[in-house]
Amino acid sequence: MATPNDFFTPDEEQAIVNAIREAEKNTSGEIRVHIGNNSKKPPLERDQEVFHVLGMDATSARNGVLFYVGVKDHTFAIIGDEGIDKAVEADFWDCTRDVVISHFKEGRFAEGLTAGILRAGDRLKAYFPYTEDDKDELPNEISKS
Ligand code: CA
Ligand code: CA
Repeated sequence: MATPNDFFTPDEEQAIVNAIREAEKNTSGEIRVHIGNNSKKPPLERDQEVFHVLGMDATSARNGVLFYVGVKDHTFAIIGDEGIDKAVEADFWDCTRDVVISHFKEGRFAEGLTAGILRAGDRLKAYFPYTEDDKDELPNEISKS
């Protein structure tokens, strides 16, 4: 059984981090991936908690986007902070989620996340374009718990 620490190979992890860097070259938005284990809390509550713990709700433009993979309970969620959530069309997260899940179903987890991250980055660009003085407000590395 995979754990958050061995869910991705080092190469896959690097590919995901590269996708985040690539996406953040287009936008001031901050994208993160979290690989979590089971928790006694319901997924939605747990995902929101991780969102907060990771500081995703503390970006200056409220444009953080979290990709949450629950390893043990096979859950996947995308959570956008209120700045971006207000800006995108209502079905944006569902559509992005569908793209990711279609890869997951074939066992292509890293590819799925990469595709989702680039899609989110592309959309973020329209509302939160990259500016010269952009700060990398949140680390691009995958977080695990
Ligand atoms: Ca930034
Ligand atoms: Ca970042």
